[in-house]
Amino acid sequence: MSRFLSSAYRTLTPYTPGEQPQDKKYIKLNTNESPFPPAPGVIAAVNASEAMDLRLYSDPELKPLKAQLSESFQVDVSDVFIGNGSDECLNYAFMAFGEDGFAFPDITYSFYKVIAQLNQVTTEVKPLRADFTIDLADYLGPETPDGGHAGIGKNIVIPNPNAPTGIPISLDAIAALCEANADHVVMIDEAYVDFADQAISAVPLTKKYKNLLVTQTFSKSRSMAGARVGFAIGDAALIQDMETLRNSNNPYNVNRISMKCAVEALRDTAYFEANCAKIRANRAWTRTELEKLGFHVLESQTNFLFAESPAISGKELYLRLKDNGVLVRHFDDPKITNFNRISIGYEEEMAQFIETVRDILTF
Ligand SMILES: *Cc1c(COP(=O)(O)O)cnc(C)c1O
Repeated sequence: MSRFLSSAYRTLTPYTPGEQPQDKKYIKLNTNESPFPPAPGVIAAVNASEAMDLRLYSDPELKPLKAQLSESFQVDVSDVFIGNGSDECLNYAFMAFGEDGFAFPDITYSFYKVIAQLNQVTTEVKPLRADFTIDLADYLGPETPDGGHAGIGKNIVIPNPNAPTGIPISLDAIAALCEANADHVVMIDEAYVDFADQAISAVPLTKKYKNLLVTQTFSKSRSMAGARVGFAIGDAALIQDMETLRNSNNPYNVNRISMKCAVEALRDTAYFEANCAKIRANRAWTRTELEKLGFHVLESQTNFLFAESPAISGKELYLRLKDNGVLVRHFDDPKITNFNRISIGYEEEMAQFIETVRDILTF
């Protein structure tokens, strides 16, 4: 640290991304990327003429992508915000709405804590129940005489499904959160929503609740983690606030090629749906196999499983898998230290993973 760093950032603890080692070829089940390549239209969009156009700035209004998102999600163009990854959308939301602080679960996406610190936003951490589900009452606040709730006096951010547990909350729960906390923003991070067995996206609720902001990303279900595109959908007034901040920071936040790729990815619904279906099938298979090996596996609706074995510690399993060429994600948090998060890849990768786990447990 230099002696020039502003005091506000001296205690900042940055996010720790999942490892991307280059030393050898791993079966990479540690960062929830898609095993599938982007849609054929996306690959075709990355061409020479697009490269020639890189001399020009990207469209600061992101028009073609906003138009496509508006059509795909049946919302107004003015209800759409586009970010350099959904992490950037989350950051602008914390920056814009964070004055009263944000509440979120103790076991959740670790970026929230970092973004809060970066923006000097206070936080209130709500412990999950012992079964790793969210206790809705924690976010509703005290009951009022009319049988309603007074809210918790803070904004809320919850991933649905939650990460790294994979467990979803219901749309009724989200509606209750919005109603109880009408004077604050309720942000639902839907990074994994496309992998759920049933449609559980809160996007349709944004028409009813002016304080609901939903974020999604192209990084997981649309195989574009490296393109860095995410978006938020909510009431036009919320979006306008975030646009003010974006235009005060970086109006060219999404580059030309990524924007074009994102449009193509949205257009190919058949490819997208087929890939999500394959992930669901591989998830179900892997879960059954892990259970046969004695694992306790949480009920995941995402492209990963969160599992622990009574026979081996989470850390030990992670290290031995790594030795054997399989990368999963282990978190040091004592509450979940016995678990590993296993991203769902190709069928053959999952078979190899299960084989390797079996060998580790046997010898
Ligand atoms: C991966 C992830 C994101 C965002 O990813 P981007 O690549 O920045 O779009 C957001 N929230 C959760 C819970 C995630 O796991």
